[in-house]
Amino acid sequence: MAGTVQVDAVVVGAGMSGLYMVKRLTDMGLDVRAFEVGDNVGGTWYWNRYPGARVDLESFDYSFSFDDGLQQEWNWTERYAAQPEILKYLNHVADRFDLRKHFTFETRVESAAFDENRNLWIIKTSGGETVEAKYFISGAGVLSTPKPPEIEGLDNFRGKWYHTGRWPHEGVDFTGLRVAQIGTGSSGIQVAPVVAEQAKHLTVFQRTPVYCVPTDNYKLTEEMRNTVKAHYTERRETSRHNRYGVPAEFPTIKAFEVSEEDRRQKYEEAWGEKGHLLAFRMTYADVLADEAANKTVADFLGAKIREIVKDPVTAERLVPKTYPFGTKRPCLGIRFYEIFNEDHVDLVSLHETPIERITETGILTSDGTLHEVDVMVFATGYDALTGAILRMDITGRGHRKLRDKWKDGPRAYLGISTNEFPNFFMITGPLSPGPLNNMAVSIEQHVEWVSDCIKYMEKNGFATIEAQEQPEQEWFDHVQEVVGNTLYLKANSWYLGANVPGKPRVFIPYLGGAGTYRATCDEVAKNGYRGFTLEKSKVEA
Ligand code: NAP
Repeated sequence: MAGTVQVDAVVVGAGMSGLYMVKRLTDMGLDVRAFEVGDNVGGTWYWNRYPGARVDLESFDYSFSFDDGLQQEWNWTERYAAQPEILKYLNHVADRFDLRKHFTFETRVESAAFDENRNLWIIKTSGGETVEAKYFISGAGVLSTPKPPEIEGLDNFRGKWYHTGRWPHEGVDFTGLRVAQIGTGSSGIQVAPVVAEQAKHLTVFQRTPVYCVPTDNYKLTEEMRNTVKAHYTERRETSRHNRYGVPAEFPTIKAFEVSEEDRRQKYEEAWGEKGHLLAFRMTYADVLADEAANKTVADFLGAKIREIVKDPVTAERLVPKTYPFGTKRPCLGIRFYEIFNEDHVDLVSLHETPIERITETGILTSDGTLHEVDVMVFATGYDALTGAILRMDITGRGHRKLRDKWKDGPRAYLGISTNEFPNFFMITGPLSPGPLNNMAVSIEQHVEWVSDCIKYMEKNGFATIEAQEQPEQEWFDHVQEVVGNTLYLKANSWYLGANVPGKPRVFIPYLGGAGTYRATCDEVAKNGYRGFTLEKSKVEA
């Protein structure tokens, strides 16, 4: 076909997944083309340039472990690195391993269709290119498709508005402006305190309050870095087998097996200097499974909010009451609750006074108040986990559309691959632990599994690999069974698709624990890719 390029593999995305995937495949000698919508590498950290953006797992752990030279030479400057430093790191990775040359930037993969006669994916891009490839791998990200603000009247607003996930590269100066911020998830709690520092007035519109733990961030010293680097190998190994991909042991003890005093002490530690994003989830084994155990954490955190926020009405609005702790993703923030003690910061509870519409000058709420502002910040989240994959028009065997197959929720064996779509792989795909785990660990595990699988196929002359229907259904049932034993279904979270109007309500990430999941994937591979069908080419068969 004129103008058609043939390669071994096409990779989508230049975030952590795409970068490492390209490295592994090109190291094997495969010819790879990779496409990225942004004009450079970085993925999440390319797009999320909002002020306050910062990783909420320790920088040492939210980074690649695959190359000891890389982890020894890179010097993280803060315990929780801010966005510019992580972006710099990912640029360093791209340069160090000479990966950039495989990427075509400012180009979206629009469609991918599997040609059954030739066992090839035909990929079309926004740049008008057609590329044929044996393997098609999505590293398009789990939180990369911003959810439209979906509030009536936004087009009428005469001021400027921004989404945290598409922040302008030149930044935004809020000095002297009246700002409305909608949304108080992980992005919202990070951006609000920084906007509050600059703005003349900030009104935070909150739909559901979150549990936000203070970030004990600090500058890392040479000595701290050296201590970690001396034991990096063990640290990484522990993380690979931990439930959440961090270097810690998951507790076996339950909340009511200790005294109230002991629990209180443990919670104070988790809130204080030992605190991190997962600290409360890892205090006791049953925090996310038993309502009474969960309530001990919720009560502790509620009391902390009431202690910090001076105005009792505002404090009450900020205390979550409608879902168990941890079933919506908790946040790590810097001075989030404290800003509500400042005269120029207001909180509007959208449960009490929902937004009626956006007007030319501001936000009209149901009590008739028009909150007049100059700028709006939408921290309203993403079409998570499936959004970026389904945005591409993917067609498998028998002209089957992925969008049709997943209309009642995603089905994917191990969250890696899906029946009727041979040689299509998803990095941190739906029904894998993905964002419930340290994403860096999830990404490395999937990239390594997929590239090992491709190596196996190439070595043994296989033309296709395809997830079988029954194991795929069994995996889906298993994911749902595991969540059924927890409290997670009690919250309207993006894990369930509940944040996107019309999205099927299915619990998407796998909650069985990242270490257990890794063992399952390894076992499948060791057993000749049990649950997958591997075929030599039709001509040879
Ligand atoms: P999010 O967690 O989905 O939060 C979106 C917020 O906007 C929620 O408060 C939501 O309320 C509200 N909202 C959504 N639509 C709305 C509407 N139409 N009207 C009013 N309010 C609305 O999104 P996010 O904060 O961007 O975070 C997404 C995920 O990205 C996080 O959970 C985390 O995994 C990741 N993240 C990580 C970091 C980090 O590592 N530091 C930082 C940012 C994000 P409801 O809760 O009622 O839906």
